[in-house]
Amino acid sequence: ESGANVITEGTLTVCTSLPFKPFEFRQGGEVVGFDIDMADRIAQANDLELELVITGFEGIQSGQALNTNQCDMAAAGMTITDERAEVIDFSDGYFEATQALLTNDESITSLEDLDGKSLGVMTGTTGEIYVDENAPDGVEVRVFEDLGLQSTAVKSGQIDAAVQDNGPLLDFAKDNPDVFVTAEFDTGEEYGFAVKKDGNDELLDSINTVISESREDGSYDELYEKWFGQ
Ligand code: GLN
Repeated sequence: ESGANVITEGTLTVCTSLPFKPFEFRQGGEVVGFDIDMADRIAQANDLELELVITGFEGIQSGQALNTNQCDMAAAGMTITDERAEVIDFSDGYFEATQALLTNDESITSLEDLDGKSLGVMTGTTGEIYVDENAPDGVEVRVFEDLGLQSTAVKSGQIDAAVQDNGPLLDFAKDNPDVFVTAEFDTGEEYGFAVKKDGNDELLDSINTVISESREDGSYDELYEKWFGQ
């Protein structure tokens, strides 16, 4: 019998937000990625079927999706922060991240270089907070709904640069030789999976067990290689 308490019997319902390649994105009509593989392992460990709910990141990070029982768990490349931990319960960290700068102009290597220029952030993210706190007043900050819109705006030259997590930006730059990651800001972030606030300790324990076991048995490294190697 599964220890995890779920909203739909037999199913682990997981909220995620697209696109956030290589953590969660569409490939040939299917939603795949590092987070999706981890979520699948968590479902399997509890004899549950994985069901994904694709929703906005804002509703995930604000706790709305979890606390209104839209899903049992969130897997969205979401940074563990004190503010979010007041409204949702985080698992142990499973991935290190830092903010980074994506630009189509290699001479732009800092927020100061963007004075008088436009900089895209994604709504509700730690990148948005970082820019609010650190960009000079002369930077024209533009807010985007998702990473897809944000990164294509840099590629097309609609904006000069964007700030988001290093993993997805490095991945985008690898696929698009006309854009570059010219800086990383060392914000020292860690991603966590999340469940509703004070609502599902059994599931949280099981998530933490899957994270630690996958690190011990080498399967975490295999997933890393699968999604980040090459
Ligand atoms: N890690 C960042 C955050 O938690 C961005 C997450 C995302 O865009 N999916 O805010």
